[in-house]
Amino acid sequence: MGAMKPFDLSGKAALVTGGNGGIGLGMAAGLARAGARVAIAGRDAGKNQSALKKLGEPAIALEADLLDEKACREMVDEAARKLGRLDILVNNAGINVRKQPQDYPLEEWKRVLDSNLTSAFVASQAAYAHFLRAKAGKIVNIGSMMSIFGASFTAPYAASKGGIVQLTRALATAWAKDHVQVNAVLPGWIDTALTRRARDEVQGLHERVLARTPAGRWGAPEDLAGIAVFLCSAASDFITGTAIPVDGGYSVQG
Ligand code: NDP
Repeated sequence: MGAMKPFDLSGKAALVTGGNGGIGLGMAAGLARAGARVAIAGRDAGKNQSALKKLGEPAIALEADLLDEKACREMVDEAARKLGRLDILVNNAGINVRKQPQDYPLEEWKRVLDSNLTSAFVASQAAYAHFLRAKAGKIVNIGSMMSIFGASFTAPYAASKGGIVQLTRALATAWAKDHVQVNAVLPGWIDTALTRRARDEVQGLHERVLARTPAGRWGAPEDLAGIAVFLCSAASDFITGTAIPVDGGYSVQG
């Protein structure tokens, strides 16, 4: 570990999936401020471009649909090629479809599982080859309070986010010997496009979140910057397989 500057990411290259908005952009901005060169990836070219304006030089954007296995692998290789190396992968892209469990067509179940869980597995497989070359690597997977709790309207989402925690533990165990650390972050309720939609669809959600969160507020994407830097830097070189809530106390309130 660089004893002088444990959080310094100068010279490191990072790929953040879904980095063009919300939590992903908050983390990408943190990594960039810590000195990393950052690639963000998403489907929407317009969102990619406006995120690049916020991130500034030398960030780059990749257009990719992670539901497509080949595109997912190519995204990782392209990030490594354009940045010259790859040290960090943040598996953040995700979606939700809210319904009662009995109402999901199988196609929707699969779309949520593939977007949130399978894409993280495929991208991690692709990144591992680059980490072997660099002789080190960091993976940060984004879980949720639904990695811990259940809710009536999130069966596939909760299954995917529970799975993310177990995937994290499995990869951490397998790749520790290669100096690859794999950890999960479990955000509480963060104000993004995803949860703005949830607030529209689930009556009383906004008030329930405020009442249940000891910090007394919704999180902001910037609240995820610090944990991203920590888990992607030398400061966390002996930390692997964990799932760390960033939730204003939501998960510990009795
Ligand atoms: P957003 O909807 O703002 O961001 C989702 C991101 O994922 C977008 O950048 C989107 O980009 C990308 N994405 C989705 N599907 C695909 C795909 N098939 N291929 C490529 N990119 C894709 O939501 P959040 O920032 O809130 O969510 C980010 C992560 O955090 C998700 O995994 C979510 O489950 C998780 N989370 C969010 C919480 C919250 O309170 N907001 C709480 C806990 C977890 P594009 O549209 O351009 O493809």
